[in-house]
Order: sequence, then structure tokens, then C-alpha cells
Amino acid sequence: YYNENTILYYNGKFKNASKVSTDLYGQTLHYGYGVFEGIRAYKTSSGTKIFKAREHYERLKKSCELIQIPFPYDIEELTQKTYELLALNHFSDAYIRPIIYCDPNMSLTKPNGVNIMICAWEWGAYLGDNLLNIFISSYCRPHPKSIKIEAKVCGHYINSILATSEAKNNGYDEALLLDSDGFIAEGPGANLFFEKDGELYTPQLGNILPGITRATIIELCQDLGIKLNQGLYKPHTLKNADAAFYCGTAAEVVGIKSINKQNFPLEWKDSLGKKLQTAYKNLVLKNELSTQTN
Ligand code: PMP
Repeated sequence: YYNENTILYYNGKFKNASKVSTDLYGQTLHYGYGVFEGIRAYKTSSGTKIFKAREHYERLKKSCELIQIPFPYDIEELTQKTYELLALNHFSDAYIRPIIYCDPNMSLTKPNGVNIMICAWEWGAYLGDNLLNIFISSYCRPHPKSIKIEAKVCGHYINSILATSEAKNNGYDEALLLDSDGFIAEGPGANLFFEKDGELYTPQLGNILPGITRATIIELCQDLGIKLNQGLYKPHTLKNADAAFYCGTAAEVVGIKSINKQNFPLEWKDSLGKKLQTAYKNLVLKNELSTQTN
């Protein structure tokens, strides 16, 4: 992820990545009490463009608010600094990882102070380009009454790591997690969509991370006249679907071949997912939505 020349942004300054360190008594290190984002920049015909930078930094702020971590930062400035960070590292296509982490504090109380670090590296599609074989995890997503599920909190990712490891140990590419009531929730790092009889379905908000890619796919469905349904769906509904895909900033749009070894009948090339995958790629490379909102 970094070498001796890598530059990162750390509390208002650009620093050499190998020359900055963090405190071993930090509250985030001990309790997972911190928040982060995953953002992508693309090389477009009009230069390097960060896709939906504002939306990502707003979610970072919201995540902080939800778990009572201060956010003493300006979103415009963070966006500007992120562009500078990419330029300093000579990156165009890159994955960007901002994290807000807390000062030393061994108590289970509010943070003593916060730090921001933003780093970036060149990263291909997180789940690869091949169709995925997924399976329903024995782990369920954390209950929204136990944590703030809509916040992108460091500690929440233990659940994602357990589910991913379980899937890989069982020979699958990726996991699918249900919520604690047995409804389909999401992947360890991506949101799920499935297709049935020419319409698209996705789990409603409430038990999932409100994905920025998910929101983009919903916008693209409107543009393309694809009927989208949001609701609570049981695994048997997904197993009877024609096709399915995952989407997320790191994963982008990636087709799913099978669930628990059962293949989806519709070929990926004929699916709405494929159509949306193309539309998504065109959008991030042209970045129309982002320039409108930024
Ligand atoms: N769900 C989870 C649990 C995730 O970690 C991610 C990745 N941030 C997503 C969904 C997709 O979110 P986004 O499209 O904003 O990257």
C-alpha cells in the first residue's frame, strides 16, 4: 500500500508515509472506535476526478456524528487536500482511504481528541472482474440496536472480516450476510441487487450501510427506466432470482454467478446488472453526477 516515497495527509500536513506513526494507547486501536471512508478517483478525459467526493466526506462526517466523534474539518478543504494528495503521489486511478481516529484514552468515554489521516494507493476492482460464487454466511450483520449500522465504523469490520474468511475457507469468493431477522442484508463490503422478471430488487435501508454506489445505481435505474424495488427479502427470493450483483466503491459493479452453489439462470451479458455495470463505468469516467453535485 505504500513505499518509501508515498505521501499521506496527516492532521493538516502532507507527510512521508513511512515517517508518521500512531500512539499505541489510542482509543481507536484498542476499541475500534474510529470512522473511515473508501473513495475512488478515476482518470477521466478531463483529468483526475474523485467520484462523489462530497457524498463520501459527508458520510464520514455523519459517521462521526452518529458515534459522537468530533469532526472539526471542512468538507471542501478535505476534498481539495485529497486532490493534492493524488497529485503528490502521481495517482490518477486510485483508491482513497480517509480515517478519523482517536487520541490515547483507555476509558469507554468520548474521545480526548481526534486525528485525520488520508492515504491513497492504486487498487484494481476489489472483488476482481470475474463472476462471483457467494454463500450465505453463518454470521449476521450487527443488529442496528447494538451499533450504528449506517455509520462506517472501524470496529464494525470485524464482522466483515469474519464473514469473508468463512466464505474463503469454504471455497467461495465472497459472503452474503443476512440481518438478525434472516432478511438479506449485504456483503462484507458491498451492497446487493438482484433481478427477477426484468425488475431489480435491493434490500431497503435500515439494516445495511447506505452505500454511495447503491445510491448511484438507483439513480442510474431511474435514468435507464429500470424498475427498482426496495424491501425486505428472504434468501429463497434471492435463490429464485434471474441474476444478481454486488456494488461498492472498491468492488464497483460485479456480477454474481451462484449463491450456495446454485447458479443464476440469466447470463450476465443479458442481465440488467451488466447494463448497469457499463453505465456505472461510463459515469465514473465522465463523472457527470459528481461535477453537478460538487
Ligand atoms: N456495505 C458495506 C458493509 C461496505 O463496507 C461497503 C463499502 N463501503 C458498502 C456496503 C458499499 O458502500 P459504498 O458504495 O459507499 O462504497
